[in-house]
Amino acid sequence: MPDQFLLGGLFGLLVAVISYAARFLTRSGALTTFMLAVVVYGFGAWAWTVPIVTFFVTSSLLSKSGRTRKLQINERFEKSGARDWAQVLANGGVPGILAFLSVSLPIQELYPFYLASVAAAAADTWGTEIGVHARGRVVSIVTLKTVPSGTSGGISLTGTLGGALGAVAVALSGYAWYAEIRIGLAVVVAGIVGSLADSLLGATVQARFHCPVCGSETERTEHCGRAADLSGGVSWIRNDLVNAACTFVGALAAWVLM
Ligand SMILES: [Zn+2]
Repeated sequence: MPDQFLLGGLFGLLVAVISYAARFLTRSGALTTFMLAVVVYGFGAWAWTVPIVTFFVTSSLLSKSGRTRKLQINERFEKSGARDWAQVLANGGVPGILAFLSVSLPIQELYPFYLASVAAAAADTWGTEIGVHARGRVVSIVTLKTVPSGTSGGISLTGTLGGALGAVAVALSGYAWYAEIRIGLAVVVAGIVGSLADSLLGATVQARFHCPVCGSETERTEHCGRAADLSGGVSWIRNDLVNAACTFVGALAAWVLM
């Protein structure tokens, strides 16, 4: 067991250094990723590490792709570019806790729920990154009325299908360790449910701000160099908390399905 944590530390260090150099992560994001890698690899070895690395690498590459299109709507999003510690914990916190809890249980016990929480994070990120490039209609998940691309709680056909692909990628990456179609399907469906919960929370309770200078709606607390006014939602419910809820709902949905 100590050897496994040492190996996890070395692997985590490698991932953190490369991600920091590639500007996938800020310094605090790299440190948090390192600690998460020690926990996930230390308790779960490759079975638990491969799916979360699959999520991390594919999402980082998707985030880096097609930056011109994204720059136009980036000012709408609360954060952009390299991920910090809060964003890493938002996606990796629930999976990390499940890895920690699994130490006293047989691996099969929590593994599907772990995969579902990672699949939900992947569905959310893939859906956002692929949806941003789509030219099709974006509608609010609550009102079903057309909203501008990049609006919290906005969903599109391309984004939803892209999210489903992300969930499939995570489910497939762990297939060798559960090897049952039924579990794989539950993981994919739970991942999609988690990302839809993310959109629903984004459209309802997540804080929305209004810039008094340029008049645009944003997730950011500051815009045009000035503090933005709260225009909707709950002030302390920000994007990171909603992302964490997404992974929690993913794990919960898998538990209900199974
Ligand atoms: Zn502004």
